[in-house]
Amino acid sequence: MRRIVAGITTLEEHLETIRQKPEVYRPLSCPHCGIKQLRQHGYYYRKADRRAQRPRLDPVPICRYHCAGCRRTCSRLPECIAPRRWYSWSVQQEVLSPRVGAAPAGCGEHGQPAARSIGRWWRWLRDRGALFAFHLRARFPELGRASEFCGFWRQVFSSLGLPRAMAWLDQEISVP
Ligand SMILES: [Zn+2]
Repeated sequence: MRRIVAGITTLEEHLETIRQKPEVYRPLSCPHCGIKQLRQHGYYYRKADRRAQRPRLDPVPICRYHCAGCRRTCSRLPECIAPRRWYSWSVQQEVLSPRVGAAPAGCGEHGQPAARSIGRWWRWLRDRGALFAFHLRARFPELGRASEFCGFWRQVFSSLGLPRAMAWLDQEISVP
């Protein structure tokens, strides 16, 4: 889907990029029709900061683009914000780590997501994990060694990390 811009890993960095070089977010071509005539079309704002520290940075601006060809709009997110989920990928990795038998990375400043959310993310990973693994192994052959589910995701968490893995997958398929 190419919705995620890899390499922007904190909300502070995202806000700085929007101030200093917003062109980083401009898609090369329209995700709907492929035409390369996109102009920035303001922002939309969303909640993204679930950290315990105050003040929070919400609402966070997200650059929006308008296509001169099909007249639809699109937007792009930094790696640190997950599409359609309030909690970041790094928090999701944190709470899913025990499920795959990995030690949590220890970024405990994000509060605790509800058990219901964690259960939903876990089902999502179980349901789509094979598809994700297929694409990730094609791009990162070294991941091919871990064959069973939990072993594979332990390796992803400790090497790429879930945020970067999702940014890569977003190049090929729709995430989450
Ligand atoms: Zn278009």
